[in-house]
Order: sequence, then structure tokens, then C-alpha cells
Amino acid sequence: MDCLFCSIINGDIPSSKVYEDEYCYAFKDINPMAPVHILVVPKVHIASADEITAENSVYIAKIFEAVPKIAADAGLTNGYRLVSNCGPDADQSVLHLHVHILGGKKLSARLD
Ligand code: 5GP
Ligand code: ZN
Repeated sequence: MDCLFCSIINGDIPSSKVYEDEYCYAFKDINPMAPVHILVVPKVHIASADEITAENSVYIAKIFEAVPKIAADAGLTNGYRLVSNCGPDADQSVLHLHVHILGGKKLSARLD
């Protein structure tokens, strides 16, 4: 399967890794929308939040377990935002589930 984030996870496409464990991989977004913008992805191909099931949800739990460590390592001592875009109305552009960690400044409450 041709998937950008699967290729990043397996090293075929380079990335700026900030964290990795058995279940997830985190790297800097190539087009940061905030001073800190990190993507956390499951190490199995899950296309989006719509594809989360009882069988694969351990990967989602592990992502959320890793988030506080990743945020602390990135110096996000004053909070951060987690976003996971799902489907066309949310403008999901890469069809491998990812959680954006955004922070490093006071973020706007607006969604667009
Ligand atoms: P989405 O719009 O699907 O929620 O988020 C996809 C994110 O992936 C975007 O923020 C985009 O900048 C990022 N992105 C797309 N291609 C690459 C890439 O090749 N490397 C990295 N590090 N980020 C990417
Ligand atoms: Zn994938």
C-alpha cells in the first residue's frame, strides 16, 4: 500500500523523529502551524478515526499515553492542543490516522 506516513514510519521517507515506541511514532510536521507542531501516528495503518475498532484501539490508547512525554520533551509546559482531522469536511490530507500536537504559543479558539 502506498501511504506517506507508513513510508515515514519504516524510514523510506526521512522525518524529524521526536519519539518512538512499539506502538507509535512522532515527528515534526513539515509545515508547522505553531512554534511546536508534532504528528503522532500509530505504527499500523489506520486510515482515520473512522477506522478505530476494539481490535486496534490499543494503538490509540498508546498514542495518548505517549502525548504527555512528547509534550514535556518539546517544552510545552503551558498547555497544547490535540487535533485529529477525519475525512473531507475536516480537510484530512493524509489517510493514516495522526494526532497533531500544537503549542508553544497561545492558540486561537477559532477553527478557521
Ligand atoms: P492533515 O491535514 O491530514 O490533518 O495533516 C497532515 C499533516 O501532515 C499536515 O500538517 C502536513 O503539513 C503534514 N505532512 C504532509 N506531508 C508530510 C511529510 O512528508 N513530512 C512531514 N513531516 N509532515 C508532512
Ligand atoms: Zn499508513
